[in-house]
Amino acid sequence: MEQRRFSTTGSRSRQRTWTIIGELIDVHLDAKIFVAGHRGLVGSALVRSLRMNGFQNLILRTKSELDLTNQSQTEDFFAAEKPSYVFLAAAKVGGILANNEYPGDFVAQNLQIQTNIIESARKSNADRLLFLGSSCIYPKFASQPIKEESLLTGPLEPTNRPYAVAKIAGIEMCWSYNRQYKTGFLAAMPTNLYGPGDNYDLETSHVIPALIRKMHEAKINNSSVATIWGTGSPRREFLYSDDLADACLFLMNLDKRRFDSLVANDQTPPLINIGCGSDHSIRELAVQIAEVVGFRGKLTFDTTKPDGTPRKLLDVTRLTSLGWQAKTTLSQGLKQAYQEFLMDSQPLLSGELAHRIG
Ligand code: NDP
Repeated sequence: MEQRRFSTTGSRSRQRTWTIIGELIDVHLDAKIFVAGHRGLVGSALVRSLRMNGFQNLILRTKSELDLTNQSQTEDFFAAEKPSYVFLAAAKVGGILANNEYPGDFVAQNLQIQTNIIESARKSNADRLLFLGSSCIYPKFASQPIKEESLLTGPLEPTNRPYAVAKIAGIEMCWSYNRQYKTGFLAAMPTNLYGPGDNYDLETSHVIPALIRKMHEAKINNSSVATIWGTGSPRREFLYSDDLADACLFLMNLDKRRFDSLVANDQTPPLINIGCGSDHSIRELAVQIAEVVGFRGKLTFDTTKPDGTPRKLLDVTRLTSLGWQAKTTLSQGLKQAYQEFLMDSQPLLSGELAHRIG
């Protein structure tokens, strides 16, 4: 079986072999790893996965400790720490409302964060960097499932264009640096994510946390109906955040030949989609969430609300052909997410609900 090495810099004495998705991997546990954005949905999943796999030498900074939009702070940090591996999961992230209201912040802060990190990682000779983007970088009318080749083949969805353009600039920067400086910088585009630490604010949350909270509240309040925006027919793909983290570690762990096939290609950008390869209608999703939450009332669909794109599914052939696939089914993931929600949100919910019931 092929042996793979996470680090070329760690001490041999701290190597260990463990199993990820059935393959033996030979790893240096003391590789110095910077997870930018470690308290976010993605970053926290990365930290859990790295720790679970025995990595001890993680470098973590909150935004108040290190503002990654600040060039000199970021350069000084990299010059001092010299991480060998960088997971770039820090970003200004938000839903349609926030993107509409603060487009300047979305384009500027994301450009600043990624430019500072990518440039500092190059200067401090990081071995590998994984830049996290999002499927909104692809054209609004890209054919489905969306292949990596769809990049820059058509107009973007206007509501998040500033964010998407910043992310596209990040991909271009990784590609250009790989060509000019022979860096190993890869850009990964995950599909819709959900999992522990998700945002359950009904104003700004994505569909899964919004439906979990809505149905939980409907159950607690003994409501007979839960209303869902739109017709329920659009189809979306969902990936559990721990599966995303697993995929990111898998990519950073790839042997040199396979990693280079992604990053050292003059003809194609160093770009890879991360998803589970299947989608569900919002109606199917709502039914599954009602089951997990234990909401026995009726689901109604408010068809006066917009549906958005009819289908959004990533083509994950590039990733699966390297040997990775998602492990968590939607129903398992929803059960785990609901348990986390109950643990994390109890004080807030009980306060709010007590107020409403009162
Ligand atoms: P979150 O909003 O959950 O987390 C963002 C993180 O970035 C936080 O930890 C925050 O730090 C950090 N951060 C933001 N600004 C700065 C700054 N100026 N300096 C230092 N740190 C900063 O985002 P997600 O985890 O959801 O997203 C991470 C990446 O994954 C993004 O690039 C996003 O596009 C991508 N992604 C997310 C998807 C999703 O469904 N959530 C789907 C597809 C892609 P702090 O906690 O200290 O404030």
